[in-house]
Amino acid sequence: MIISTKRGTPQEELQKIVAEFEAQGLEVTLIRGTDYNVFGLVGDTTKINEKVVAANPWVDSVTRVSAPYKKANRLFHEADTVVDVAGVKVGGREKVAVIGGPCSIECEESTVEIARAVKAAGGCMLRGGAYKPRTSPYAFQGLGTEGILDMVKAREATGLPIVSELMSEERIDEFEEYVDLVQIGARNMQNFQLLKAVGKMKKPVLLKRGLANTIEEWIMSAEYIMAGGNEKVIFCERGIRTFEKYTRNTLDLSVIPILKEKTHLPIVIDPSHATGNWRYVEAMSLAAVAAGADGLIIEVHADPEHAWSDGAQSLKPQKFAEVIAKCREVARVVGRDL
Ligand code: PEP
Ligand code: MN
Repeated sequence: MIISTKRGTPQEELQKIVAEFEAQGLEVTLIRGTDYNVFGLVGDTTKINEKVVAANPWVDSVTRVSAPYKKANRLFHEADTVVDVAGVKVGGREKVAVIGGPCSIECEESTVEIARAVKAAGGCMLRGGAYKPRTSPYAFQGLGTEGILDMVKAREATGLPIVSELMSEERIDEFEEYVDLVQIGARNMQNFQLLKAVGKMKKPVLLKRGLANTIEEWIMSAEYIMAGGNEKVIFCERGIRTFEKYTRNTLDLSVIPILKEKTHLPIVIDPSHATGNWRYVEAMSLAAVAAGADGLIIEVHADPEHAWSDGAQSLKPQKFAEVIAKCREVARVVGRDL
């Protein structure tokens, strides 16, 4: 961290600043200029709040040199992290993992049917919501435990690991028992209490990007989970809010190279929630694989027109199989399997 002080800062003020940081275990180097004085702080500055430092009336500017995240940082962990989800590996630049399934779980029969179709198409995990974060309190809220148990039946029938969204701490034991990959939805990306609780879980976590969150805020949310002891975190980009209306959200594919550079964690793309329209899912899936995504999570429904949620963005099984076949071609070009 680099701090510069205003012209004319009294000597005792400079000494006070040095003493304060040294007391926090940091090495402080003071460069005296004719107009400004500059401090270089070396050591663990993660606990320092730049805004608080800048509140000192003699401080002119505060610049953070290192990123505020440590555990997720590629700098301290050069190799790609491969997250093992009940035997399915996500990350590591070899295989691209494709997750498919309905937005909401509706019943055992349809869940098993979709799981079979996902597997036949080459998908490696089943997604499905049992606890749904709906904008309207009058909309279908999910089947709850019954939905989770329907997914367990689908896993028994197909062997596919299951992914589902955890919305509250109350359900942690249920998810620890039944769910293979715990999804933290966009709306809960900064529910810090929930992130801390998930940090204590043994199951891997799929951390979706918030509706309007920066990449750094998103990495800091992963850091919350990792700081709690759970280092099995997979990022999921699902589009962000912009002024654009032709899509539900705007898919930010630039996160792929950026997260790969800044962190060592895998990144999965959700073209369904990103576009909100099944017609655009194929193009965005191909682009994501070309850009180096470690996986895709796609909504699939046998009868999208009658789906209980997100039918407009759900692919029919046949289309899902076509998308996977095309993505496989692109994966080959970028040196990966699918
Ligand atoms: C979902 O995956 O069904 C979902 C609600 O996603 P998001 O949190 O990205 O909106
Ligand atoms: Mn959905």
